[in-house]
This record gives sequence, structure tokens and C-alpha cells, in this order.
Amino acid sequence: MANLELRSLGNTGLKLSSVGFGASPLGNVFGPVSEDDSFASVRDAFRLGINFFDTSPYYGGTVSEKVLGKALKAMGVPRNEYIVSSKCGRYVDGFDFSADRVTRSIDESLDRLQLDFVDILQCHDIEFGSLDQIVNETIPALQKLKEAGKIRFIGITGLPLGVFTYVLDRVPPGTVDVILSYCHYSINDSTLEDLLPYLKSKGVGVISASPLSMGLLTERGPPEWHPASPELKAACQAAAAYCKENGKNISKLAMQYSLSNKDISSVLVGMNSVKQVEENVAAAKELAMFGKDEKAVSEIEEILKPVMNQTWPSGIQQS
Ligand code: NAD
Repeated sequence: MANLELRSLGNTGLKLSSVGFGASPLGNVFGPVSEDDSFASVRDAFRLGINFFDTSPYYGGTVSEKVLGKALKAMGVPRNEYIVSSKCGRYVDGFDFSADRVTRSIDESLDRLQLDFVDILQCHDIEFGSLDQIVNETIPALQKLKEAGKIRFIGITGLPLGVFTYVLDRVPPGTVDVILSYCHYSINDSTLEDLLPYLKSKGVGVISASPLSMGLLTERGPPEWHPASPELKAACQAAAAYCKENGKNISKLAMQYSLSNKDISSVLVGMNSVKQVEENVAAAKELAMFGKDEKAVSEIEEILKPVMNQTWPSGIQQS
């Protein structure tokens, strides 16, 4: 079977695997995961062609970064064969996007990850900070880290899509290399699509995270803390049950839905077992060979119609 597809990330020159490894589950965010399972998942992901691994000091209060670092080191492969992104500004004890904090943060992250540099450092969930501080203080601090060789590229992440245009309209071109959006390119919410031409015109790479809407589009359902409304949760569970009754797997259909837009460089899915890694890679390969299951997707869209594009509040300002 063909290799997992690689896609260019904006103007960075990086080529990311279409399926990216979201390492938040390694921080036990979706329930407890043993180190053995974490290591095996990372190893298997790399073996199957996944070259992009995303983490944050926030996930599991630094546990995700530590476990990912150990797992990558244990693989013993050359550093230029995998791409690591981490984040700054969001921590278990709160948000701090000051130049001082993010400058210390990268050293702490590199120490936990056992790396000399990360490929991408992203300001984590900027809607919880002052966007003007991000523009005037945080991003200039990250540029200094770039010059120091501690990071190769700069990114921003968040839920409300308006935060991306706010920042990108105010920074010099080429300053922000990447955006990471989440829960906005899934079967139940594809609002990121409208922003893609703008991002392309700016040469900004696009990472789309949470194709399973942080567990909504799984047979198991979302974790306790999931912020969706009860009606959105119920509609997604009805869609998952419908798929199961009809011999389909909602997570596979959701992965294929997100992967089918090639303006998205990598679809970042959280994984905590070899089984999930293998299923998600297989979903991508099957999509490349046979295309999307249009009929099943429209049946799910019909079930989700009353809650389509419904999201939830995030941050201290709504853009
Ligand atoms: P997701 O939509 O990828 O869902 C993850 C959940 O689905 C986990 O419980 C996982 O075990 C399960 N899962 C994965 N594959 C499955 C399969 N084949 N069948 C059934 N269940 C499966 O949500 P996520 O983990 O929140 O997002 C992915 C990654 O994106 C994160 O790990 C993180 O790296 C990144 N992310 C970043 C931000 C941000 O920067 N603000 C926000 C969300 C996610």
C-alpha cells in the first residue's frame, strides 16, 4: 500500500504527514495511559509514516512533553526525520504570554522533550490572552528564539477563528508561519473552510486538530470535561450509533472527512494506542485509494443538521 501522504506546510519548507500525532492523550487528558502504551503508539506512528508530533506544557501538566520526549529518544532515529511542535503561554496554573515567561518556557520544554530545538513553537490558545500582547510582545519574543535556534517556526493556536485574522492582519508578513485550529474541520463543524483562502494568501501553514471533535465523533463518546452543549453531544452520539448499526465507524469517516481537504497540511488526531494509530493511518490510506464515503457522510450530516457548526465559548474575548 502507498506511503502516508506528505503535505507542505505554508512557506516553511516542512513536509508534514497528512495524519499528525496529537500527544495530549499521553498527558492522560482522555483517561489514564501507561508509558508502555504511549511509547508503542509513538513508535508505531513513526513506523507507519507519521512524522509530525504535537504537544504542549499544558497537556497533563508537562507529562505529555516528558513522555513524548522519552518515546522519541527511545526510537533512536535522526532528528531531521521527525517534526515536533510544542506550545507556550498556557500552563496548568494559568495563562502567561509575557516575553519573559515564553522565553523561559521554551528552555523548560526542550529539557522535558530532550531536544535542542522544536520545529514549531505555538502560542497556546491566544483567545485567553490579550491579542495585542501576542502581536507586540509574544511574537517578537518568539522571533528572538528563532534567531537563537531554539525554534524553527512560529505558530498560534485557538478556538475562535477570528483570533487568527486579528493577529495575522497586524504582524509583518512571514512572522507567523503556522496556525493550529481545532474542532473546526470535522463533520459537525467545518467553519475553518471559509478561512483557508485567506490563510493561503498569507502563506500561512494550516494544521487542523481534533478531527474527532475531541471525542464527540467516537463510539466511546467525549470525556467528562468536554465543553459541547448536551444537544451537540447527543446528536454526535446518535450519529455514532447510526454508523455502528450500519456497519460503519464514525471515527474513520470523520478522519477521512478532515483529510480530504488538501489545503490542510496535517490533521492532528490524539492517539493513545497502537490500535488507534493503525486505524487512523489505514483511514488515510483508504481515502487516498478510494475517496470519501460520500453517502455515509451525507447521512451523518443529516443527523447532525440541527447542531451543524455549533461551537462553544472560549477565551476572554470573542472575535
Ligand atoms: P481528537 O478529535 O483528535 O480526539 C481524540 C480522542 O479520540 C482521544 O480520546 C483518542 O483516544 C480518540 N481516538 C483517536 N483515534 C481514534 C479512533 N480511530 N477510534 C476511536 N477513538 C479514537 O481530539 P484531540 O486529541 O483534542 O486533538 C488532537 C490533537 O490536536 C491534540 O492531542 C493536540 O495535540 C492538538 N490540539 C491542540 C489544541 C490547541 O492548540 N489549542 C486544541 C485541541 C487539540
